[in-house]
Amino acid sequence: MYKNNRAHNFNPGPAAMPEPVLEQLRDEMLNYAGTGMSVMEMSHRSKEFEDIVHRAEADLRTLLNIPESYSIAFLQGGANLQFAMAPMNLLPQDGSADYVLTGNWSQTAIKEAQKIGKVHIAASTQDGNFNRIPAPSELQLDPHAAYLHFTSNETIQGVEWPSEPVLPDGAPLVSDASSDIVSRPIDVTKYGLIYAGAQKNLGPSGVVVAIIRNDLFERIPANLPAMLDYKVLAESHSLHNTPPTFGVYAVGLVLKWLIDIGGVAEIQKRNEAKAKRVYDVIDASGGFYRGHAQPDSRSRMNVTFRLPTEELEKHFVKKSEAEGLVGLKGHRSVGGLRASLYNALPLASAEALAEFMREFQRTNG
Ligand code: PMP
Repeated sequence: MYKNNRAHNFNPGPAAMPEPVLEQLRDEMLNYAGTGMSVMEMSHRSKEFEDIVHRAEADLRTLLNIPESYSIAFLQGGANLQFAMAPMNLLPQDGSADYVLTGNWSQTAIKEAQKIGKVHIAASTQDGNFNRIPAPSELQLDPHAAYLHFTSNETIQGVEWPSEPVLPDGAPLVSDASSDIVSRPIDVTKYGLIYAGAQKNLGPSGVVVAIIRNDLFERIPANLPAMLDYKVLAESHSLHNTPPTFGVYAVGLVLKWLIDIGGVAEIQKRNEAKAKRVYDVIDASGGFYRGHAQPDSRSRMNVTFRLPTEELEKHFVKKSEAEGLVGLKGHRSVGGLRASLYNALPLASAEALAEFMREFQRTNG
């Protein structure tokens, strides 16, 4: 166990939250900033809550250096709704969108987009069981594509784009950044739309963050229902209807925490250090641990690996849980083990896992 009886939490999402944020939420539970009530009990039309939304937006802008030509919205419906909303807003009826297929989540995004319009698969790594990110030369781009969609980190397979795909010109990038947003600096100006479910790096589930370039609002069909329309949702500052107020507040505190510790450049260093601890054990294990991802496509957020047998994998999960290392079972569609090392996971937890893995190999290898 970690300090305060807290688990070493490797859950894939919902996942570990920064401890100072949980402490602040606890301290303010009955009385937020002298209002005599919890944020949960407060009108979403109150001055206090408006301030909360504006601060969260401003802090995200600061963290990712988001220019004024982009809007930010806090949405509902999970990243799964974004799979439909992105094409509903940005894919014209007579157009086609490029998608890169790199794992379960891009596959789901593609299936949903195909219900809305025409999809062209610009590259796929399905042949190799989604163990890598395609090389730039593999992308077969449609010169008329409405946008190119990619999944910056495939949470289930544990493969992550080292940097965004390079497009010759024109088509905006659309990214599902659910499992690696704010884990490193990115150049937002390369994107048309970035969306991310909050429950990995941003806070509790129930909130989705969308960052969208304002000129793309022009593409939105006039008959789109308001709750699916990025422009309506962004221009109302996420207050078109009652947003998940407490979740948005918690996301705001996580963003503030990230700024306080030094921003995305600092968290990038910490994330790389954590991932290195675990990959080093895999690489030094002489094949006892087999990483799923090819080394140059390895995710810093989700480390996926197998053991020599399924029996040993089950034993690993059981024994790790008994030692306070929680959430290491791989996704059912891939099997094996997965250690999720999101922003809020302390280095000490990655070190505890590395130590556990070495000891497990010594006694079971
Ligand atoms: N995309 C990615 C990359 C994810 O990791 C997840 C959730 N694990 C989703 C989409 C789906 O998110 P939600 O459950 O919020 O719809």
